[in-house]
Amino acid sequence: MVDTHAHLTEEVYDADREAMIASLSCDGLKYVFTVGYDVESSKKCVELAEKYENIYAIIGIHPENCQEYNASVREQLKQWCTHPKVIAIGEIGLDYHYEGYDKELQKKVLLDQIQLAYEMKMPIVIHLRDAVGDFVPFMQKHHNLLQYGVLLHCFSESLESYQIFEKMGFYVAFGGTVTFKNAPKVQKVAQYVPLDKLVLETDCPYLAPTPYRGQINYPKYVSLVAQKIAELKQCSLQVVLEQTDQNVKKIFPKVK
Ligand SMILES: [Zn+2]
Repeated sequence: MVDTHAHLTEEVYDADREAMIASLSCDGLKYVFTVGYDVESSKKCVELAEKYENIYAIIGIHPENCQEYNASVREQLKQWCTHPKVIAIGEIGLDYHYEGYDKELQKKVLLDQIQLAYEMKMPIVIHLRDAVGDFVPFMQKHHNLLQYGVLLHCFSESLESYQIFEKMGFYVAFGGTVTFKNAPKVQKVAQYVPLDKLVLETDCPYLAPTPYRGQINYPKYVSLVAQKIAELKQCSLQVVLEQTDQNVKKIFPKVK
């Protein structure tokens, strides 16, 4: 199993990070991808990936932090991209959830990081919240820059939206939300998405799956996501695990 989206750098793990990482393989996890959302967290992700064989880093500036993006940040991201354990640019995207967001700045910062990923021949990991109406035409317009792969993390849009992304060849990742009782929309999409376009994630420490909802989330809970997907797709857990592991290698060619 691979947890393709974790935030291992978060303070909540300070007390038990070492132990948690040491037990990953016992928990059935081959790799965990730790994801940055600003310069500071991206730097910590690279450090963790350097320290531990089974950790890879994804680095980037989240739309909520787009004010911090500038030419020197871009240069720093570019440098990290040359690191063998840095496998993608993310999480980047659009987020219109909280008051005070700047749509134009978010799009500008997203586009610049997409261009960087294209230059560096890297896939991108997308965070999308309350902005699908802008995101679809934006990605269609810049489709020529997306040939190294797009993964939509924590997918929570409608089936109709997914069908547009399906045509564009995007991959999607489901996390704990797919296990929630009140998430029929996410479950419907998970049922529909072809198994060869899907990967697993936790987004830990957030969004712990049922029965740990509301508690601190850990990479090991990705097994609960896998189980739910198998149940929704009426296939064996083994099939989900094998196929998603194969997909990881397709999306992230730098992963061994
Ligand atoms: Zn995240």
